[in-house]
Amino acid sequence: MLKYIFITGGVMSGIGKGVTAASVGKILQSRGLAVTAIKIDPYLNVDAGTMNPYIHGEVFVTEDGGETDMDLGTYERFLDVNISKEHNITTGQIYLTVIGRERKGELLGRCIQIIPHITDEIKDRIRSTAKKSKADCAIIEIGGTVGDIESLPFLEAARQMRLEEGQSNVLYIHVTLVPVLDVVGEQKTKPTQHSVQELRRIGIQPDAVVVRSQSELKPEPKKKIALFCNIEERAVFTSPDMRSVYELPLILDEQSLGEYLSERMLLKTRKPDWKAWRRMLQGFINPEYRVEIAVCGKYAELADSYVSINEALRHAGAANNASVKISWVETEIFEEDPSRLQGLEGYDGVLIPGGFGARGTEGKIAAISYARQKNIPFLGICFGFQMAIVEFARHIGLDGANSTEVEPEAEHPVVDLMPEQQSVDQKGATMRLGANEIVLTPGTLAYRLYRRKSIFERHRHRYEVNQRYLARLEEGGLVFSGRSPDGLRMEILELPGSLFHLATQFHGEFKSRPVKPAPTYNGFVAACLERATATGKK
Ligand code: GLN
Repeated sequence: MLKYIFITGGVMSGIGKGVTAASVGKILQSRGLAVTAIKIDPYLNVDAGTMNPYIHGEVFVTEDGGETDMDLGTYERFLDVNISKEHNITTGQIYLTVIGRERKGELLGRCIQIIPHITDEIKDRIRSTAKKSKADCAIIEIGGTVGDIESLPFLEAARQMRLEEGQSNVLYIHVTLVPVLDVVGEQKTKPTQHSVQELRRIGIQPDAVVVRSQSELKPEPKKKIALFCNIEERAVFTSPDMRSVYELPLILDEQSLGEYLSERMLLKTRKPDWKAWRRMLQGFINPEYRVEIAVCGKYAELADSYVSINEALRHAGAANNASVKISWVETEIFEEDPSRLQGLEGYDGVLIPGGFGARGTEGKIAAISYARQKNIPFLGICFGFQMAIVEFARHIGLDGANSTEVEPEAEHPVVDLMPEQQSVDQKGATMRLGANEIVLTPGTLAYRLYRRKSIFERHRHRYEVNQRYLARLEEGGLVFSGRSPDGLRMEILELPGSLFHLATQFHGEFKSRPVKPAPTYNGFVAACLERATATGKK
């Protein structure tokens, strides 16, 4: 019998509901269960692809080319499984399907209503997605905060599911915040009480509460939450401040969340095996070395728009026994005052992430150029790859080289729209998306990093290296060490003779896992560490 665990959120957003959902999954996975996770986003967009990452956070790309909520990335990293795009359910998708059926006449004669038509469609999707992934247990995170109008149909569907699936097959975990307001450090439980009351008002009695708080919940507030929220005291768990998010599964399991879930869901599980996870954590918690990396982009300060890059760097750091300090650098400052490029000297590496549009591009190109000349390790991702092409083209004398995304009438359009994109007139889900095969050239740095000839990496772009300039770039010394199987699409560039100057058209960060860092990031951080050691930093 498939088990379903719904994760809801209270009090406010941004308290780590996604990490909690992923940790609950990890706890069950460590007991031998096959676990999958689903994210529900109660907005009307069909997917996250058309949303501004600088406002809503990163658009995470799945193996099958879904442009999804960044929580799917959290699930993949914790559970070390690939999750398909159906695992991100939005209000937009639900309504589109139901209205589509109504227009076709499939619901002829009936009045279409939120209950049952919308709620039935929600339940159908949750069930079919969970079944398709062959999991024993599906974790379903409902985005937003209890009390939002948008999430009501989803909560109603969750409520109905327990009636239909049985008491022991559906569980509800509510994630809330306990703030500390005064100097004596009193933990305030009232917001939690209120949000659970709201949940109970719509018919959901949570089975457990996970409380986000600076430090462990004291006995008194714990008792209070149990009493006012109508749950056992042992079902109140704390998620305190941590050194690394990857500690949370262990912290919750030490509070017996695993046993509690197994008991409530009548699971016959084996003893949890945390050996590999603990070993992996060592690198995150007690690293011996330290590197500092400048991530140069626009609106660089919003770290949430680059979560996967952030995580991939940390995974690679842990694998190299180094903590990674990431500094977000706005590239427009290099355009205003080129002397500020010298500031890059103080970092062990420069990373140019993906991006869209013209603003800040000259600054990015200048940063790449500086890194190349000063032999500072450089990693370019997607737009960063394209800018590295432009930079190198200008360096070998192609004055006026640019991407046509930035300058449609560029004298040397070294990066241009992919042929299949010419006729695309809609924005949603029309980029080159998801995993594609890439063939690596033996003897290159890329090949040494992957130690394989064929790899699959995830994409999200419309532009590519212009074929017409290939020979010129190669004659100039640039090596294309990864290409599409037909040899026509350039996927990796590298510059032999430098400490590390490599860029990829794909996003290696989407497949990086704490237990399995992305090879390109791993190589980059190793080179940064080499520079840090050489310059006497530790
Ligand atoms: N804007 C570029 C393109 O569409 C790069 C996209 C990206 O960095 N994800 O090709």
